Amino acid sequence: MTNASIAYFSMEIALESAIPTYSGGLGVLAGDTLRSAADAGLPLVAVTLLSRKGYFRQRLDDLGNQTEESVQWPVGDYLAPVDARISVKLEDREVKVRAWRYDISGFSGQAVSVYLLDTDCDDNTEFDRKLTDHLYGGDDYYRLCQEAILGIGGIRILRALGHNGIERYHMNEGHSSLLVLELMQELARQQGTAQTTPEQINEVRQQCIFTTHTPVAAGHDRFPADMAFRVLKQCNPFQECADELCCEQELNLTYLALSSSHYINGVAKKHRQTSQKMFAGYAIDSITNGIHVHTWASDAMRTLFDRKIPDWRVDNAGLRNAISIDKEDIWQAHQAAKRALMEYINKVCNIGMDQQVMTLGFARRATQYKRATMIFSDIDRLRKIIDHCGALQIVFSGKAHPKDQSGKALIRDIFEIARNLNGFIRVAYLPDYDMDIGRIMTAGVDLWLNTPLPPMEASGTSGMKAAINGVPSLSILDGWWVEGCIEGVTGWAIGNSEPHGESASEITASEVDILYSKLENIIMPMYYQDRDNYISVMRNAIAINGSFFNTERMMNQYVTKAYF
Ligand SMILES: *Cc1c(COP(=O)(O)O)cnc(C)c1O
Repeated sequence: MTNASIAYFSMEIALESAIPTYSGGLGVLAGDTLRSAADAGLPLVAVTLLSRKGYFRQRLDDLGNQTEESVQWPVGDYLAPVDARISVKLEDREVKVRAWRYDISGFSGQAVSVYLLDTDCDDNTEFDRKLTDHLYGGDDYYRLCQEAILGIGGIRILRALGHNGIERYHMNEGHSSLLVLELMQELARQQGTAQTTPEQINEVRQQCIFTTHTPVAAGHDRFPADMAFRVLKQCNPFQECADELCCEQELNLTYLALSSSHYINGVAKKHRQTSQKMFAGYAIDSITNGIHVHTWASDAMRTLFDRKIPDWRVDNAGLRNAISIDKEDIWQAHQAAKRALMEYINKVCNIGMDQQVMTLGFARRATQYKRATMIFSDIDRLRKIIDHCGALQIVFSGKAHPKDQSGKALIRDIFEIARNLNGFIRVAYLPDYDMDIGRIMTAGVDLWLNTPLPPMEASGTSGMKAAINGVPSLSILDGWWVEGCIEGVTGWAIGNSEPHGESASEITASEVDILYSKLENIIMPMYYQDRDNYISVMRNAIAINGSFFNTERMMNQYVTKAYF
């Protein structure tokens, strides 16, 4: 389809579990966005990098030490090569770029094409041939070259493929924002101006949309100005505007995206506020993230929805009618999903997880601010809760970025705590978190736990996957949960969304206290002794949150607020 009017750019896109072109939430969100765009039949085309060696495969030894292996995946089995060839000048090198196509077909019968850029071309140097190998790998220089390929190369590939009618460019995070320089260069060429004019810059701005995804500093790419000068030596708009583009001897791709977009949004209402403080001077709106419900619903839930709400795949809002599904049906569908999870865990970790025991799930990138070990803050208290309320088992998953030493230490901590618990609480850590593991975990546990340090969680989407499967959350009030939590109705909150006044350690202590108190006094007694009410909360999670926190609703908002 060459009549696309929207181009969506993302450094990572989770096309399917077996294609390792994603690292986590950003890529999964991009994939779900495109799946819903295809369902809606939107005239959209997407661009990303091939990531021939993936992000990495995680291995964990008996002590929880993470090692990384690069992934080899059979590109040609999944993707179709396209004929287009373009090049991008990096320093004095003319780097050749080709592309592969993956079509996402939607329930409308339409498809969205994704182009994955590849620099593994004969004419390129050894270094350049590997530029599109590693997602988030290499040093600053490697990353800047990658991002020039993504942004500048991405626009050129679209043109080479005949996409000349694109009116909107959506930057999913700042990684792709060098694309605005190419758009300026095109205009200058078309209009025959020697330099980029303010009118041209304005015209580009009218075409661009920027979604920011994280308040964490490492998520915002910054490059030394002299490196940017060298790499983008042949990029006229950069050389002309370098003074404005480089602030304090740095090229900041987030600022490039902010200053070049007419519509900017955060990914939850609370994240909008956080981003507005970080980037005062830019008007920032919010569109809360969602998930693609068909992708994340378990097989048993899909079957149940098919019986009760037949058009749920193309009318997610209709999932509100889950409120009238028999509780017994919800429970049985959940039990089937739980059985699949128990079998998977026992196969991989061999620890005798028990279908009858209340099971908590926690899967996210292993990094400090996600605070994976909060549930283990006070083991004695946890023992008393279990004596008092009944058994508990916990399943974890998540990779640490190869350079995140404290994130890796967190995984080791969980292994050590699990050993010391000596089977009193069964704890499993599933290695190599990916979409498949995410899908069976969010569907199969009884409660989804989330304990990030506010305001770091921009949105979070795994709790939404749990919700569509009738799994309530017990979560810190951050990200989407500020909007999704109706206390005791869709799940439970830990703390306030604006903790204030106290010291950091006092806030943490009070969060831990709330976490334990709610488990002991409300959630576990309800699960073991008042099952009927627990299933009500499960059903509400589907009807109230599943019907809203999905990418169908999200895409409708992008169309009306951002695209047109
Ligand atoms: C959904 C998902 C994520 C993002 O979940 P968060 O709640 O944002 O942590 C990350 N990785 C995988 C594999 C996922 O499926």
